[in-house]
Amino acid sequence: MCGIHRLSRIFQPITAVPKNTNLTHKDFMSKSQRLMLELGIIHQAIPGCFHFLPLGVKALEKVINIVDEEMKSIGGQKVIFPTLVKTELWEKSGRINALGPELISLKDRHDHNYILGPTHEETASYLLSTLAPMSYKKFPLLLYQITSKFRDEMKPRFGLIRGREFLMKDMYSFDLNEKEAMKTYNTVIQSYNRIFERIGVHFVKVNGSSGAMGGNLSHEYHYPAEIGDDKIFICHQCDHKTNTELIKEDACPKCGESKNITRSTAIEVAHSFFFGDKYAKPLNANYLDKNTKPHALQMGSYGIGVSRILGAALECLSLEQELRWPDSIAPYNVAIIPPKKGSKEAKLTEQLGENLYRSLESHLPDLKYNILLDDRDSLTIGRRLLDCRRTGIRYIVVLNKMSCENPPIFELNDIVENKQLYLGKNEIITYIKDNGNVLHLARSMV
Ligand SMILES: [Zn+2]
Repeated sequence: MCGIHRLSRIFQPITAVPKNTNLTHKDFMSKSQRLMLELGIIHQAIPGCFHFLPLGVKALEKVINIVDEEMKSIGGQKVIFPTLVKTELWEKSGRINALGPELISLKDRHDHNYILGPTHEETASYLLSTLAPMSYKKFPLLLYQITSKFRDEMKPRFGLIRGREFLMKDMYSFDLNEKEAMKTYNTVIQSYNRIFERIGVHFVKVNGSSGAMGGNLSHEYHYPAEIGDDKIFICHQCDHKTNTELIKEDACPKCGESKNITRSTAIEVAHSFFFGDKYAKPLNANYLDKNTKPHALQMGSYGIGVSRILGAALECLSLEQELRWPDSIAPYNVAIIPPKKGSKEAKLTEQLGENLYRSLESHLPDLKYNILLDDRDSLTIGRRLLDCRRTGIRYIVVLNKMSCENPPIFELNDIVENKQLYLGKNEIITYIKDNGNVLHLARSMV
């Protein structure tokens, strides 16, 4: 789509999710999922797998852009590993049993066994092992990809939050020794902090449990939310934050505090691990030292649930009947609603909506591709305003009687601040510039 983004041309099927089906049961359906389905952001294909419709893709691309920028800023190099992974690799690492029932396995026509990768520690180590061992000079090496991952969830639920196919960013770091590996680990953790700060939803970083992944050191990033599967513990006395799986008593394991603490359910959106040579050793991922002697590499792995972030952010911010996005990843930040076709105002404001569109784009370049003209002018202004509100477009500019004056006045609705203001064009530009996070948002593709 080039030029003006017109709502009438956008594939956003707005539907009501039928009530009283298994799908709407509160154990399976969350607020964010219901709203995303109703408002044409995603559509269910099969349980736990979703079509991303254009508005969903636009938001997803913004998350990807933020992640790409931060990964590249620390020297991450983007790769794409195949989705099909030889089962044999998972036998070598010993993980086949730990994750067994959650793996989607298949056989090809030659009777070879594969799984659809849920994560790629084995693949990354195997890649290095099949090349001639690299010189110590080539490290640290940080490889990452953003691809679909698979998990045969017993009960897929909450839409993008616990699906069977999901988009994940996974990075693998390789270092020469533990000291260097710790340096790399901390650099990646810093970049994760920046990613979650840029997205702008309140997050908590805690000490993680390694679970089936194994390993020596781990951190988790969470969005606190009622429907979350994880439980986190925060001690306000000493600032110790951890997954409650690591705590067996009621008091803080660090300082003993038992009152000034918070326990909360949360949605895990990212996880980092340091493994040492747990994968590199069985899979023979080595480097050559100065004397060309081979040694096992030290490995870290770092995941971000890219599609899960979308669901989890909406779960945290949305109202019961209206989506709310962080400015940084909203599919659109501004909607312009011209008068209804055939009205007096429509004749007097012809072209005014499009002129305002172009003017906002040229004064606020970060809004490029992020403004929507709601040209469904056979509908009343009220109906269109409601649709845009429910979709969660933060700034909704309505053209009405006052817009026929010279200079024209517009009605600006800021749905996050819950404000309705009457402003001229330049005041709208200033308002958006001063109030939104818009100028910091990652640019989306056309
Ligand atoms: Zn404490």
